[in-house]
Amino acid sequence: MKPAPETLAAQAMGWVAQPFHDLAPPLHPSSTFERGGDGDYPGGRVYARDHSPAYDQAEALLAALEGGEQALLFPSGMAAATALLHALPAGAEVLAPRAMYWSLRNWMRELDARGLIAIDFYDNGDSAALASRLAARPPALLWIETPANPTWEITDIAAACSAAHAHGTLVAVDSTVPTPVLSRPLALGADFVMHSATKYLNGHSDVVAGALACRQPCPLWQRVRVNRTQGGAILGAFEAWLLLRGMRTVHLRVRHACASAQRIAEHCAVDPRIAAVLYPGLPTHPGHTVAAAQMDGGFGAMLSLCIAGGEQAARDTAARLQVFKRATSLGAVESLVEHRASVEGPGSLCPPDLLRLSIGIEAVDDLIADLDQALGRTSLPGT
Ligand SMILES: *Cc1c(COP(=O)(O)O)cnc(C)c1O
Repeated sequence: MKPAPETLAAQAMGWVAQPFHDLAPPLHPSSTFERGGDGDYPGGRVYARDHSPAYDQAEALLAALEGGEQALLFPSGMAAATALLHALPAGAEVLAPRAMYWSLRNWMRELDARGLIAIDFYDNGDSAALASRLAARPPALLWIETPANPTWEITDIAAACSAAHAHGTLVAVDSTVPTPVLSRPLALGADFVMHSATKYLNGHSDVVAGALACRQPCPLWQRVRVNRTQGGAILGAFEAWLLLRGMRTVHLRVRHACASAQRIAEHCAVDPRIAAVLYPGLPTHPGHTVAAAQMDGGFGAMLSLCIAGGEQAARDTAARLQVFKRATSLGAVESLVEHRASVEGPGSLCPPDLLRLSIGIEAVDDLIADLDQALGRTSLPGT
């Protein structure tokens, strides 16, 4: 019997350590490993930067959840993305979506300015235009983020992968927002999946970590491995242990948060104080049909509200929220709100009236009541 992903996650891959039969995986802080008198390494490990056993369990679990052969942990999502970009030949072209995680977009542009990669952008959600761009001038790597920050456009992963592969382009998907609970890009043809494990995989706002998974090891993947070992950007053992603990509940957290996000989106969609609700779970969203086909069990727990009345009204609404915490980041147990354009800063493509919501696992009625009072309709009970 092949256990379901939920079972693998809940039992941290069924780990049972000897001799105490622990149910919780051990923590491996050792930086170095003993060598036998004959020069061998009886534990099969030499030094933590190359071979730390601290990552084994979390990497095996992530690879299993993504349906890939291997996974690697990194000290942040940005470090994971950077390891992949640095593995490309110097000057290789990366085609990235116009709407994507802002810091990574800026970092790609900076790497372009330094001549390390060449970057160009495509419009999210236009599969036909993307296919003709890939055919006309195939880049080395196609970068996908779906749903894409902070407006949640959907890219058809399978269509993009077949167009890319027809011209020898590799595909990497930033799957931080859907998580392997809702989306398995490797099964849709992607070569690599990237995560900010800081977000849903860990889920408790107490670890910064990143990860990459590959469908099957290829020369680029071997270079990614070398980049981690020799570049030396490795995650701490305790962070890896915390991440594994967080991953054991990822299915419960993500599904609960998705169901709440869907209810909140439907509630807000009929509120005249909100000019637009950006959420792929609404049938009015332009990517809804593709999202329904390629996501499984929900449309994610991220949504954005464009507040009628513009930027100041949006900032005032955020200021009045009491249950939602005003903070950047996403994917944790507590719900967050941010005025995204002011976080992204100069040059931001984000609409100024947009509030980005990360829905957590609180009682959904508390979140809805909080939004209602902040929009100025009712007051919270007891306030
Ligand atoms: C947060 C985030 C990143 C960057 O990850 P860090 O862990 O902050 O380095 C990349 N992509 C997406 C979609 C993110 O939300």
